[in-house]
Amino acid sequence: MRRTKIVATIGPATSDPTSMLSIIAAGVDVVRLNASHGTLEQHRENASRARTIATDLGRTIGVLVDLPGPKLRSGDLAADEVELAIGASFTLRGERISGDATQVSTTLPELAQWMHPGDEVFLADGAIVLEVVSVDGADVSTIIRRGGILRSRKGMHVPKAERHIEPFTERDRVALEMAIEIRADFVGLSFVRNAEDIDHVRSLLPKRGMKPALIAKIETALAVDNLEAIMIATDAVMVARGDLGIQLPARRVPLIQKDIIRMCNLAGRTVITATQMLESMTRAPLPTRAEVNDVANAVIDGTDALMLSEETAVGSHPADVVRTMAEVAEAAEHWDRHHDTPTGVEAPDNDKVAWAVAHAAVHAAEDLKVAAILCPTRSGQTARRVAAFRPTMPVAGISPTHEVLGGLCLVWGVTPLVVPETADGGQQLRLAVQAARSAGLVRDGELVALVFGDAGPRAGSTDSVRIVRA
Ligand code: PGA
Ligand code: MN
Repeated sequence: MRRTKIVATIGPATSDPTSMLSIIAAGVDVVRLNASHGTLEQHRENASRARTIATDLGRTIGVLVDLPGPKLRSGDLAADEVELAIGASFTLRGERISGDATQVSTTLPELAQWMHPGDEVFLADGAIVLEVVSVDGADVSTIIRRGGILRSRKGMHVPKAERHIEPFTERDRVALEMAIEIRADFVGLSFVRNAEDIDHVRSLLPKRGMKPALIAKIETALAVDNLEAIMIATDAVMVARGDLGIQLPARRVPLIQKDIIRMCNLAGRTVITATQMLESMTRAPLPTRAEVNDVANAVIDGTDALMLSEETAVGSHPADVVRTMAEVAEAAEHWDRHHDTPTGVEAPDNDKVAWAVAHAAVHAAEDLKVAAILCPTRSGQTARRVAAFRPTMPVAGISPTHEVLGGLCLVWGVTPLVVPETADGGQQLRLAVQAARSAGLVRDGELVALVFGDAGPRAGSTDSVRIVRA
């Protein structure tokens, strides 16, 4: 049974019912709707399609809406592409023009304000490097230090301007509204720089009822500097290796990945490893050895979830990619490695009792070699805390609604189970055990651990462990 979760980006290759069914059946736990592409109407339709398919398969699926964030781009070109030659002069124009081999406009008209001679600007998603020579009004004159091919509207990166860029755009606001409306389980925040960027989005979420969990995508140099504060402010973290490898030298990304995952494991924060994991399978039927190693190593690092982007959004073999990822992840889970686990009472949300009870439950479960740890939960937190200690047996998150369970689809090792709610606490626990038996997690007569909160005045906080025979 695989413990690592799989996030798959939905796109033209996977939005029709047959393809979507094929990837969900192949093992997708969370579908990702990338608001940088497609229309809001398509995302709404994809979310409801994914949920219907999962329900038909007797499963719960999570929905992640990824907000575009303030991604800078160079502007349109007159030709399809131009070659920027090393040593030549090149101007970044404040005014909107049709670009060529000597000049281009950008999505940041006020760029010149923050530029000084010697500063670097990266075009073509990092491939082309410009050095600023002078600033003339709204225009920035540069020398091309590393040449390359530029196409229209490619990603631009300006380290010196990053702190001045408005982090939450109108497009983000509209996409967030859609995410709330479709009751997305997760919202991904692109290009966050600090904890305030996350607090701001959190302040825009509904005050009552279910809200999406926030995922901070670590893909800027500033975010790497502010990792600890971001991790405390967010619900989950994504190692967004694509843009991270543009904003920082790519050789630093593997080390940052390991640091982020360890930090999240220690704090009990969910962490996703993303981008180019099985990139070659966008076209090829088989992955490269390096990709197989990369997926396995992310699992061994301790990631909760692995993400597919173009591989499933526009790839030729979306279901094969998911199957490959599932097989490689599961194989890697057999590697016997000590995982970093939360230091209990130092967990960032400070619910010391709940953390200590989860820790104790996992201890007892391992001592007794129980078949499964069952967590009836109102918010999903109990299952999340138990899983953070990486027990060897299955963990079930149990709730009457898919809405609570959707948030658990990203969490390492947790199987979401729908169980109807009853007023009688004892009966509730019996139903939980029954559901685990039907799901095949537990056989008759095996021991199981139940971790739950008293349904008293302090309802909601985990304070009990019970060991029963199924
Ligand atoms: P993106 O984010 O796919 O939205 O760019 C992930 C990454 O940059 O790695
Ligand atoms: Mn990105």
